[in-house]
Amino acid sequence: MKKFEDLINTYKDFPEKGIDFKDVLGILHEPKVFNEIIMSMSASKIIQNSEAIISIDARGFIFGSAVSLISSKPMIVARKPGKLPGEIVKQNYNLEYGEDSLSIQKSSLDKFNNFAIIDDILATGGTVGCVASLLSKNDKQIKGFLTVIELINLGGRSKFNFPIESLLKM
Ligand code: AMP
Repeated sequence: MKKFEDLINTYKDFPEKGIDFKDVLGILHEPKVFNEIIMSMSASKIIQNSEAIISIDARGFIFGSAVSLISSKPMIVARKPGKLPGEIVKQNYNLEYGEDSLSIQKSSLDKFNNFAIIDDILATGGTVGCVASLLSKNDKQIKGFLTVIELINLGGRSKFNFPIESLLKM
């Protein structure tokens, strides 16, 4: 079985010069490693203490939906612009490269009071911060954030006062 960290490919200068893009999709080529990651995330207190999971577009969906299945916690999604029908709540944010916004369907948000947030990578923290402020604005509690990879040099973790767990620090 290949080691977890050997499955993460780094692409220099993608999608822009100066960015070392960490590609997590290689994990999916090794289902045993993927399984270990999902089991570890599902066992986290952050998940156990949450009513529901909120997964971030798009690679967060891969990990979030598998954790939802294993932990039997419902999942809702935070999506990029123009993807969700119905009434939405929306927030803009800054990325390590560029700017974007995330939206959540109000009807799905209304069903739950507290959430575990899941994404593939914590970089600057702009993305998870966007979801956190959407949740706070709507009087929802954040039990914590789970990510597969944490890019420690970017210091994203220091921006938050909720628990953060990452499986691989790079
Ligand atoms: P950030 O908002 O800076 O914490 O970035 C987190 C989000 O952007 C995650 O959804 C990642 O998928 C993506 N991302 C940011 N930086 C990188 C990177 N260096 N390599 C791969 N994905 C990244």
